[in-house]
Amino acid sequence: MSARQLVLRQRAELLCALCCGGSSEGLESVLDLLLSWGMLFWEDYQNVRVPGRALCANTRVLLDLVYTKGDETCRLLLAAFKQVLPEAQRAGLSFGNCRTADLENTRDDTKELHGTAIQTLQTDRPGLVRRLRDRIEGALEVLLDTGSFTPSDCDEVQLPVYTPSQQARRLLDQVRSKGEPAAKVLLQYFQQTEDHPSPSNQESPPKECLSYQKKLRSTVSAQSHFLSTYGGTSSLSLEDIYTEGQLELAQGGSEAQPQTGALGLEDVVGLVGTLNQEADTVLVSGEAGSGKSTLLQRLHLLWARGAVLHDFFLLFPFSCRRLSSEQRELSLRELLFLHCCWPDGDQDRIFQFILDHPHLILFTFDGLDELMQSFSDSEQRHCCPTQCAPVPTLLFNLLQGSLMKGVRKVVTSRPEAVGPALKRYLRKEVLLKGFSPAGIDCFVRKHHRDPTVATRVLESLQSNTALLGLCHIPVFCWIVSKCYKELLGCGEGEGSPKTITDVYLMILQHFFQRRVSQRNTMGIGWVQEHQDTALHLGKLAMEGLGASCYVFTGTELQKCGVTEEDICMGFLIRSKDLSSSTNCKHYEFLHITMQCFFAALYIVLNNNLDRSTIPKLFQPQARQQQPGFHRACLGHCLTQQEGALMEANTAAETPNLQITATFVSGLLSQRHRSLLLLSCPGPTLDRKSKQVVTCLSKGMQKHFKSIPRPVEGEKKSMHAMPGFVWLIKCIHEMQDSRIARDTMAKLEVEHLKLTYCNIGPVECTALAYVLQHLRNPVGLQLDYNYVGDVGVEQLLPCLHVCHSVYLRHNNISDEGIRKLIEKGIQCERFQKIALFNNKLTDACTECFAHLLKMKQNFLSLRLGNNNITAAGAGQLAEGLRFNRSLQFLGLWGNKIGDKGAEAIANALKDSQTLVWLSLVDNGVGSAGACALAPLIKNSTLEELWLTKNCITRTGVECLILALESNTSVKAVWLRGNELSPEEVEEMTQQEPRLTF
Ligand code: ADP
Repeated sequence: MSARQLVLRQRAELLCALCCGGSSEGLESVLDLLLSWGMLFWEDYQNVRVPGRALCANTRVLLDLVYTKGDETCRLLLAAFKQVLPEAQRAGLSFGNCRTADLENTRDDTKELHGTAIQTLQTDRPGLVRRLRDRIEGALEVLLDTGSFTPSDCDEVQLPVYTPSQQARRLLDQVRSKGEPAAKVLLQYFQQTEDHPSPSNQESPPKECLSYQKKLRSTVSAQSHFLSTYGGTSSLSLEDIYTEGQLELAQGGSEAQPQTGALGLEDVVGLVGTLNQEADTVLVSGEAGSGKSTLLQRLHLLWARGAVLHDFFLLFPFSCRRLSSEQRELSLRELLFLHCCWPDGDQDRIFQFILDHPHLILFTFDGLDELMQSFSDSEQRHCCPTQCAPVPTLLFNLLQGSLMKGVRKVVTSRPEAVGPALKRYLRKEVLLKGFSPAGIDCFVRKHHRDPTVATRVLESLQSNTALLGLCHIPVFCWIVSKCYKELLGCGEGEGSPKTITDVYLMILQHFFQRRVSQRNTMGIGWVQEHQDTALHLGKLAMEGLGASCYVFTGTELQKCGVTEEDICMGFLIRSKDLSSSTNCKHYEFLHITMQCFFAALYIVLNNNLDRSTIPKLFQPQARQQQPGFHRACLGHCLTQQEGALMEANTAAETPNLQITATFVSGLLSQRHRSLLLLSCPGPTLDRKSKQVVTCLSKGMQKHFKSIPRPVEGEKKSMHAMPGFVWLIKCIHEMQDSRIARDTMAKLEVEHLKLTYCNIGPVECTALAYVLQHLRNPVGLQLDYNYVGDVGVEQLLPCLHVCHSVYLRHNNISDEGIRKLIEKGIQCERFQKIALFNNKLTDACTECFAHLLKMKQNFLSLRLGNNNITAAGAGQLAEGLRFNRSLQFLGLWGNKIGDKGAEAIANALKDSQTLVWLSLVDNGVGSAGACALAPLIKNSTLEELWLTKNCITRTGVECLILALESNTSVKAVWLRGNELSPEEVEEMTQQEPRLTF
């Protein structure tokens, strides 16, 4: 269908798309584009945009005009709509074949018309509007000073009914009407301000706003001074304890985009990694306890002190947990002033300043996963900042950019709760991956001011690598540091903590012990002694989880039997801002994982528990099919409406129930039986434990059943889902190798793929614990996770069942790899390793050489995109010289140069096994290529990859000569070397196996 027909057919829809929101922004943006592409003349524009005429009437005139202008104009009109409309509005429309490339051509054509300053203003109009809206006053000042504008021109531009973008357009229109000299003045102004951006160019904010900023800074500073886990009573402030976590761009994991350097705190908001310029929302995602709230808190504190984010004049911090408790409908204005900071001065002026300067404002939303309702973009559109709406509606419209476009937003969430609906609106996504090994060290030393204690804690972690692995998650690191006496007291033997449940039992004991220290009566029956507290808090935790409720009123506490004494134990803390704004006290658990742990305790210790509770906990589908499950445990927490809502939104709640199930598995393991036996009858414990084992086994079977039949000639392969990793973690918590063996007995695959599964050291410990029981060898593919050196060490116990290990992009350094290879040499079945995009240097090549010498059945070594130089290649060559089995060697993206290539070629020249060699992008020149030629003569090589090097004609001629006496080589890849098109042509003719 022609573009003209499309415009005609969709007239009503196009009209509605631009008019239904009531704002003229859409129409004006379309006009900007059409003007800049030269599709509308100035007269046309004036005929369409008649001030005072209804928006719909103006839009109709535009549609008529474009239709009469013909097919090409219609095509560009559709292109402009496509560019301007938000994705949700584009959905039902058909845009024909308007391609961006065409638009670029059109733009280039019109650029050639750039003769006068007025034409420049027209062709660059969309960009100029964006740039002008933040500097209207500055531009007007210059125009006034130069006599281009009169004061009444300025007033017309600055009419209060206009938004900043509209003011920018009116200014451009006025300038045009004044003629070429005014246009030149404006362009000059752009040049000057952009060459020398300085704060002095920015208008100074009004007095009220400055004092509001001061108040906001001091509120934010007071709120972020202490971490809740340090309770405010501790002498450690956030400043004292904050330790950098590992931040990474979510998209940094593709092969096309190698790993970027570590991100700093300010990069979260900064430009780096921006995927969608138009979007304002940055997502920070990470597991529970990985430090998301703490990261935001640090950002808030530093902003409040004026240490970072200087571009943002006001920062509004929100907690989704608290927003969830907001029952009222609010306007954006109320949301800011009520939830963050109440202005003492002229509220209207302050709010107007916020509206007028979106780029100076930053909103942060902590814990999107804790919002009762999951993010949805089918939510009612809400664009008016002064109109009231339910808080989730405000929040979703803010994140999408329908409300307060241009304001930067940072939102944190656990990964499970972020669906494609939100991803569409993201500027970028940053992953928070907990502490690095150096971070753990640093945290422990900050936590313990006494260096001898810190050293002892660190030594004890080094001797218990499973616990060290757990400490990568800051919340576990905090517990371990807090309970250092218990930790140091239990030695290095069987009793030392290994699992997450062990760690939480340790803190449970620690808090209980604190209360009884005077009496000193904590014996073997310490759980029984505090059973009432555990049950009260457990009930509260459990009901809260079922209702996605994390903040509790005093009444709710009472209903669950929580007493003052229970509160004094320290597991519950007062909610900061809610408690101060109302008379009623509000409480929350120290951390969400603590709430999950108490819920698990409740399930285990409650002797009157419904028998179906455990199966339902382990089977998310069963929960969804039986809404009664929620109701059964919600009680008072939910109104009817909320209950209905919640049943539709289990995405956020599932991760918490999974953590709870993990704790239930741990508590019902044999190793804690004697501890619980005093509180629960043995048969009840046994029954519950059996239920868990059955659930785990059934859960696993389900995963095994979903494995597709292998395509003929391919290996039977399982692509594991995150749910599989969770089950593995539950099995690990049980610490019973019989259970691990039995559940794994039916897994018969040759390849287990766990890419992009958020696998860190903790998951590696569990994986190795379970996978070591596999009967048949597997290829274990863990690419694009964050295994790290500690994770690698955790994997060693299962290395003997792996014929191949794939660890691409996992932040592994020489130290981790040395341990892996040391063990690998002893594993008969271990034959392949892929380590693309890690942090390997020449310091690890010696160990690979040793592996190659020792293992005469080793097949494939891939070390692409690391930092191996000629020296490393030389060491590797020492091993290659003695190896009689290697078939694949990949060194893509290192820096081995000619020298390295020569060493490798020399070592491999007599190989009777090598079939594939890649030295892509290694700075190899003709000398290297000539050294490789004898390899080609070798009868086994099939593919030689030399793309992106600096090989010239001489080098290629050597290769051609070698190919003359070879029939096994299928291709030599040479694209991106130093050859002219004529040489390429000539050499391809000479040797068709060369691929340029
Ligand atoms: P999340 O929001 O991801 O669940 P939190 O930020 O609440 O995790 O972290 C839980 C606890 O872990 C904090 O209360 C604090 O004790 C500790 N913690 C987290 N991140 C850091 C950090 N960067 N520096 C020091 N301690 C941290």
